[in-house]
Amino acid sequence: MKNRIVLASNNPGKLKEFSASLSAAGIEMVPQGRLGVTEAEEPFGTFVENALAKARHASRATGLPALADDSGLCVRALGGAPGVHSARYAQLADGTRSDAANNARLVADMAGQADRRGCYVAVLVYIRSADDPRPIVVEGSWDGEVLAEPRGDNGFGYDPYFYLPDLGMTAAELPLEQKNMLSHRARALRALLQALRTEYQPNPATLAS
Ligand code: IMP
Repeated sequence: MKNRIVLASNNPGKLKEFSASLSAAGIEMVPQGRLGVTEAEEPFGTFVENALAKARHASRATGLPALADDSGLCVRALGGAPGVHSARYAQLADGTRSDAANNARLVADMAGQADRRGCYVAVLVYIRSADDPRPIVVEGSWDGEVLAEPRGDNGFGYDPYFYLPDLGMTAAELPLEQKNMLSHRARALRALLQALRTEYQPNPATLAS
């Protein structure tokens, strides 16, 4: 029987990506919305604090182990911004947000900057229960540079401006399959899978009896 865990997100893309990896480890992911869990607040300044808050909220509401993620773009010349504010970097007064507005702000903030280095970051937090004293925390990062002009139509968010010098293209020029192998989220997922394999190993004492 599969181990059920709640995913502290309702994003269908994330559910698909996480489920595909974790089902190999015998884990069934249930999105929190299906269990009636509301969205948690994300008031903190670090990815890890926000991911932990989301995981605790989902686990407390359902009594299940929980997985949460938080991700974004950190640019050196901007002191790590947009960082945890990546999704709402250029949020308007009425609360609306868009990739186009976020990218326009990024380009404006980077005007005249010689240091273009930045990285995508994804932090995943897994907790066995809401009060787990030892959460499993993994981070994946992906180094790149911020362009002044967009390139490519794939991906989402900052991808058209996120240039990968080793590959000679932006994340939006990469085929999606390749992005999903190389990305910060893919790296974090691989680390999580490794940790969960140990976590879900059967108890040798039970097997022997
Ligand atoms: P989250 O869903 O709260 O983790 O917000 C992540 C935000 O960071 C997204 O809305 C994007 O703005 C940005 N982001 C994270 N990962 C990516 C990526 O792979 N490509 C482009 N933007 C990303």
